[in-house]
Amino acid sequence: MTATGDGKSQGGGIVFLVGAGPGDPQLLTRRGLEVLRSAEVVVYDHLASPQLLTLVPTTAIRIAAGKSIGHKILSQDQINATLAEHAQLGRRVVRLKGGDPYVFGRGGEEAEHLFDLGIPFQVVPGVTSGLGATAYAGIAVTHRESASAVAFVTGHDDPNNVGRLDWPALARFPGTLVIYMGVTRLASICQTLIEGGKPASTPAAMVQAGTLPHQRTVEGTLTTLPEVARSQGVGFPALLVVGEVVARRSRLNWFESLPLFGQRIVITRPVESADDSARQLEALGAEVLMAATVEIRPTNQLAALDAAIDRLRSFDWVVFTSGNGVRHFLDRLLAGGRDVRQFGSARIAAIGPSTAAALAQYHLKADLVPGSSRSEALTDALRDQVQDQRVLLARADRGRTIFFDELSQVAQVEQVEVYQNADAPAIPSEVLDRIEAGTVDWITLTSSAITERFHALLPPASRAKIGQSIRLATISPVTSAAARRLGWSVAAEATTFSWDGLVAAIQLNSGRRRTEETDEAGSSSR
Ligand code: SAH
Repeated sequence: MTATGDGKSQGGGIVFLVGAGPGDPQLLTRRGLEVLRSAEVVVYDHLASPQLLTLVPTTAIRIAAGKSIGHKILSQDQINATLAEHAQLGRRVVRLKGGDPYVFGRGGEEAEHLFDLGIPFQVVPGVTSGLGATAYAGIAVTHRESASAVAFVTGHDDPNNVGRLDWPALARFPGTLVIYMGVTRLASICQTLIEGGKPASTPAAMVQAGTLPHQRTVEGTLTTLPEVARSQGVGFPALLVVGEVVARRSRLNWFESLPLFGQRIVITRPVESADDSARQLEALGAEVLMAATVEIRPTNQLAALDAAIDRLRSFDWVVFTSGNGVRHFLDRLLAGGRDVRQFGSARIAAIGPSTAAALAQYHLKADLVPGSSRSEALTDALRDQVQDQRVLLARADRGRTIFFDELSQVAQVEQVEVYQNADAPAIPSEVLDRIEAGTVDWITLTSSAITERFHALLPPASRAKIGQSIRLATISPVTSAAARRLGWSVAAEATTFSWDGLVAAIQLNSGRRRTEETDEAGSSSR
């Protein structure tokens, strides 16, 4: 519904109050995504995921409204004025707020202000943290056996708040209490509830940074929770949940039980292949930090590439050694106005399953995929089949040469450069800071070249941390050897020489450590 006020002089300007969800950017609604993608101005809160800002057109004006609790960048009046000002210039303005805009987000005030000025607005609800963070913490806020009602309550003691809370009534509330903004007043809230008649033994939990990879849940009773939370250093943003439903966590705690939950993993591979890798790790519960060491660019030897494409049918075999090779080769072929029939009867070899998957995107089926994604395996698999045949090797400007060297002895092998690996200029500063602070668990290395480049980009002090508190996971013995030459020890190595194998190796080697940590920390989880 659009509230329009008098709606006269707006020139198309409109404000969308959008709920960003509790933290995990995947919990944005589809309507929220649509609106963000067409935004001309975004006014965002610090609780909204920074990743959501990447969905906004690069041309949009971005305005930070709040930094952290108590440290406002803009006052509420300034926020209201900013929204109005841009809408009155005819712009599509998104007001992006953590959780849901109308749950303790002052969205109602902002909407009323717009209504008074006759500026149209729409509301895109979001998953409020009281529902999202609780679900990720293993708490079903209602449950047929434990709670038939749930109340969302503010724990913020605002002296100007008109409807001052009736805590004795809340103490008698027959259901789950979800208390927002209660970190600093935790002890007095628990005390007040006990004084109001709630049994001191009522289960209670604090959920910090719910739905995010660093989510943390501490559990106790109304009596014990304040001390548990204090000793564990629970901080903003956190919810207090009080009620019998908390006791059911042991069976519902799915998120914190994911195999890589709590693991902080750096991806060093090029952006092109990093996205899928990141999603895979995140689905397993890990926090992912991106630090591409290599950038993929089209080749600058296009004439040679075009000539190879022209003569494609004259080859018996075309060999691809990476998904990037497939994409750059096929995109060039299609851009020239041809289609996949250009391959004629040439057979196609892929170094591994992900290269074969890239071919499948172009409706091409690899005739040969060796069991393991290594040059040696590909060479062995092809050697007998290519005797005296014509082979085209589509490759990067640099990389290992074993395939070419070996097969040239038995076949007529031609190489063509289809893309280039360019060195990334630096590791992003936020990742460097985390490495220096030791708040990273794993660094993934997927080739010798990436290993060497990553080493070169690290300041010497950080290099020493690697192999110690920060562990290395590599894709193959060849990559491990490159790391060892640089003085690093390797904690996990893929047995299948593939990204999936690398992920499996991390799981195998981090499970043990997490169990030890859980034992030390007792019932709490991290
Ligand atoms: N509109 C937001 C709430 C804003 S008030 C919503 O619907 O969720 C800010 C409070 O929300 C914080 O003090 C904290 O209590 C809670 N909160 C927000 N995000 C949270 C998260 N990821 N985990 C736990 N609590 C969160």
